[in-house]
Amino acid sequence: MSVSKSASPRLIAHLDMDAFFASVEQLDRPELQGKPVIVGGDSDRGVVSAASYEARNYGVRSAMPAVTARRICPQGVFLKGRMSRYKEISENIMTILRDYSPLVEQLSIDEAFLDLSGSERLLGPVREVCRTIKQRILTEQGLTASIGLAPNKFLAKIASDWEKPDGFTVILGDRVPEFVRQLPVEKISGVGTRTQTVLKAIGIKTAGDVAKLPLEFWERKLGKKGIDLFYKCLGRDDSPVRTKRRRKSCGAENTFPQDLISVATLKNRLLMQSERVGRDLRRLHSKGRTVSLKIKYNDFQTLTRSCTLDSPTDTTQVIFRTACRLLEGIHLQKPVRLTGVSVSNFEKQPVQLRLFPDQEHLKQEKLDRIMDVIRDRFGEKSLRRGDSE
Ligand SMILES: [Mg+2]
Repeated sequence: MSVSKSASPRLIAHLDMDAFFASVEQLDRPELQGKPVIVGGDSDRGVVSAASYEARNYGVRSAMPAVTARRICPQGVFLKGRMSRYKEISENIMTILRDYSPLVEQLSIDEAFLDLSGSERLLGPVREVCRTIKQRILTEQGLTASIGLAPNKFLAKIASDWEKPDGFTVILGDRVPEFVRQLPVEKISGVGTRTQTVLKAIGIKTAGDVAKLPLEFWERKLGKKGIDLFYKCLGRDDSPVRTKRRRKSCGAENTFPQDLISVATLKNRLLMQSERVGRDLRRLHSKGRTVSLKIKYNDFQTLTRSCTLDSPTDTTQVIFRTACRLLEGIHLQKPVRLTGVSVSNFEKQPVQLRLFPDQEHLKQEKLDRIMDVIRDRFGEKSLRRGDSE
């Protein structure tokens, strides 16, 4: 079976915190709210690393020499910055993002891409997911973020910057061509000052201008860069969202609408959770050796049980069977409000091929592959396995 990956457009979000360092300072020291806060400009030799929106009104920008910032904004509050605090909040924000996709690419301390393709059936409309993320960052961390949602990384990054601060810009479907056409070339990533000079010399101002000339022209003019520029000016960019950070585990858990007592019903939930975990592992090309089960009773008492397998796995059936064995080992005493399944202890090296793989294992791997392809095309709920172990 071969299915083209580009069958449905991708959904890529880019999140960028608003004036991050300065906003954290204003959050931790409420007396700074409404004031022009400038982080990184505390010595005259320094460079501004962040400026609050109040300071931006005076023309202060990041990367500006502190001396200049002081001159144009003498009433500014100049601070040294507290990197460990920024990192702490950054980690919290990335953790929120990973609740919505296993594919999160952190670009810097306050910026990340997340691939939400194919998540609609599981998480609901993607626009709502983005609004929820913004809301969670505001309520849980007290900060505003801007999000851009588009079919690729290139456009998502431009979109997040479009309506800052606290922005949410969606560039999908019919909006893509009209949005791209009017884009000034200096907004296009990869267009540096040298390319800008070349473009200026031939009267090119917008992406629309670039797209009017043929690919061959740009290839001759700018080489590989020209090809990249041409496709971006058509709104196209195939670069994947890459998780640089090595994940330590994959998990899925749910709080049920009603507490559950029946073991059969609980196993049915474990199957759905195992499917999500298996799918995430396969998307990440990771296999883990330890399967864990979490049970929370209706009085919030929580139990965790783990089992380490002989070989690492990303097979749904193996994860499910192991989770069921762990459940059977627990003497359930109270109604259960939550279960969770996770796989950890990832294998660092690619797994060696077994000399004589058993037929059942091969069959399960093939089944997973087929189900992944079908779900990619028709959504998470398009398929259900039987409940039997
Ligand atoms: Mg930012």
